[in-house]
Amino acid sequence: MSDELIIFAEEDSNDSDSLANTSNARPWKVLVVDDDKDVHEATKFGLKGLVFLNQPLELIHAYSASEATAILSAESNIAVILLDVVMETEHAGLELIKVIRDDLQLHNTRIILRTGQPGYAPEIEVILKYDINDYKNKADLTRTRLYTTVTAAIRSFSEITAIDTSRKGLERIVHASSELMSLHGIRELANGIITQLAALLGIPAEGMICFKTNPDPQMNADDFTVVAASGELAAGISSQSFTVEDANIRAMLSDSASKRRSVENEYACVLFFPSECRNDMLLYLDIQRPLEDTEQQLLEVFCRNISVCLDNATILDRLHNYAYFDSLLDIPNRVSFANHIDKMMQKQVENQVIILIDIDHFSGINDTLGTESGDELLRLIANRFSSFLPEDIFICRVSGDTFGLMGPQESLIPKNISDNLSKPFQLFGDDLSISITQGFYVLKDANISGTNAIKRANIALKRAKAIVRGDAVEYTHEIERETHQRMLLLQGLRKAHAENELYLAYQPQIDLHTGRINGLEALMRWKTKSGTMITPDQFIPVAESSGMIVPLGEWVMETALRDLEYLEKQYNLNLQMGINISPAQFRHPNFLEMVSHKLQNLTLAAEQIEFEVTESVAMMDTEKVREILQVIHDSGARVAIDDFGTGFSCLSYLETLNFDRLKIDKSFIDKMMSKTTSTHIPEMIISLGKDLNMAVIAEGVETEEQVERLKELSCFEAQGYFFGRPMELSQLKEWIENHIA
Ligand code: C2E
Ligand code: CA
Ligand code: CA
Repeated sequence: MSDELIIFAEEDSNDSDSLANTSNARPWKVLVVDDDKDVHEATKFGLKGLVFLNQPLELIHAYSASEATAILSAESNIAVILLDVVMETEHAGLELIKVIRDDLQLHNTRIILRTGQPGYAPEIEVILKYDINDYKNKADLTRTRLYTTVTAAIRSFSEITAIDTSRKGLERIVHASSELMSLHGIRELANGIITQLAALLGIPAEGMICFKTNPDPQMNADDFTVVAASGELAAGISSQSFTVEDANIRAMLSDSASKRRSVENEYACVLFFPSECRNDMLLYLDIQRPLEDTEQQLLEVFCRNISVCLDNATILDRLHNYAYFDSLLDIPNRVSFANHIDKMMQKQVENQVIILIDIDHFSGINDTLGTESGDELLRLIANRFSSFLPEDIFICRVSGDTFGLMGPQESLIPKNISDNLSKPFQLFGDDLSISITQGFYVLKDANISGTNAIKRANIALKRAKAIVRGDAVEYTHEIERETHQRMLLLQGLRKAHAENELYLAYQPQIDLHTGRINGLEALMRWKTKSGTMITPDQFIPVAESSGMIVPLGEWVMETALRDLEYLEKQYNLNLQMGINISPAQFRHPNFLEMVSHKLQNLTLAAEQIEFEVTESVAMMDTEKVREILQVIHDSGARVAIDDFGTGFSCLSYLETLNFDRLKIDKSFIDKMMSKTTSTHIPEMIISLGKDLNMAVIAEGVETEEQVERLKELSCFEAQGYFFGRPMELSQLKEWIENHIA
């Protein structure tokens, strides 16, 4: 059958340019460029009613190359151009091709050249270089031929476009994924996803991302928490609860969540992102038009990629959480505390105070009740804080049993805090009461960093713990200076111990019946290389609070026993050696082990050793103390109470705990200087000793008068400058030699 000729004249031109009005699908745009009106009409007629791949055709008409250029610059997605070669000029058509490909960069648009002159053909070069789809003689364009030519071109256009869209889309996805990977936190990621997706589909960023709060799809399907929303959708979110208010959107979200896959209708789609690490994520996107196949495929790829980003962001969130939150109590940690202080300082918020709060004897609670109870107590304390403190107070855990607070001075009053925390806690059904020690710093110095502010509060806290446990201390520069001094002192002490700058001095103890020496007290001495004496009153407290006293005490015991062995060999006086034991040593778990080790292979009788402890030892766990005393007594050694009368007011422990001797504190002996002054306390101590079957020795005896009065009160043991000062071994030998004669 011969080709049906195009009959130009017969056609009426009343038809609309849209050749198929039946479908509202996006039409294929075909641009007809020709300076001959008849050709336009003939083309219109030839392509009338054409629907290809379910889409109608839309003809656009240009009558010159320049008009065509204008249209091409304004219209997007022109599938095919039917282009006349000869128009304004002989090469106007060919020049237009250059504009289309080179200037306008339209590479997907198919071009069909048409010429009226039989025998005229454009240079082959042009066809190759500019990707010309077809070349037709106008006379050849029968309806059927036109049909075939145009549909072939459209098919080619749609394929090229699809490939191009996928390629660009994939490039975008790769780009988007790497962009999104670098975003920290879910919220930022969610915003990024909406933006990238909108760009991918070439639509405005109207979307929201939410998590299904209840992971069980059978349960209330309306539980979604929005993490990000953009455009007009942001307005439809309740800002307090971050819930979705639009019923249609909610229905679509529920549908997607229950099917666990993406769903769409002609206006919107919900993309479903399963997550390994957290609740599944859903993205609602306003698309305003049905998605094309290629777009749908791209979305699938996108979703797979984004799920990886999502898990990645979740991990980052967790890391963030680890870095800034206390995992046990789920409140901010020290790092957050410092950041918060920095922020408040930047904002120049005035009247702020930071408080560090330490739970007294927390390690004891942990030891006796177990760490589980300790953890629970910390939780209860954290809850207690939020129950009575105003909302604007920053609450965090700084370390183990130390909490940090920051807020306006008027709402953070130490007394109020300790009152609230002194009310009992219900710890697994039992009442437990605690006390706290606080150090606080009022942020007056506007230039201080968060870290340094915390350091200052900590200096105050340490001071409070050292001197007023249960109370609060405010940071001052003075305290900091002293703290610094103590630190230097401690460093010096360590060095002194290592470099043998420490030695022992021995003070004689006298039997007042005979006036003879019957014992010694070992007292530590520190003489620096430059010859300066540093007194025990300066360095012992530092050694005690730092724990340094434990190795020092061991050295004292070793040295004192070795010297006593030596003295016994020399003089055979059966002397007793008093060794001071500070509470920190007594409490130390290895104390008994250390003692029994030192007592082994000793040529002395254990009875010759007397440990001096202060009354504060009696405040420790009675059972523990009784046990230690028992072991010491079993070994044969003795225990005296030092500085008796100055410490613990309740004396009942004397009946339950077994001590051997009371040392009357020097302050009471000082008051015995004149005959008129009272001797009530020494008298009482002496009779107490008698009643409880304990020996009594007077300390700090400096005068003959004191000696006489002690004898009158039947105290027959004494120690003091009156008899002899503490002396180093060589001097002591001299002293002994002068006194035993
Ligand atoms: P303390 O155990 O009460 O020691 C008695 C203190 O009184 C000694 O001071 C001693 O030199 C001083 N003293 C003795 N007789 C007189 C006197 O008649 N008049 C005056 N004014 N003072 C007298 P020292 O040696 O300065 O020691 C001070 C404190 O340091 C000791 O008090 C003791 O608590 C502690 N200490 C000293 N050596 C050691 C030790 O090796 N271990 C432990 N844990 N503490 C020690
Ligand atoms: Ca002593
Ligand atoms: Ca004493």
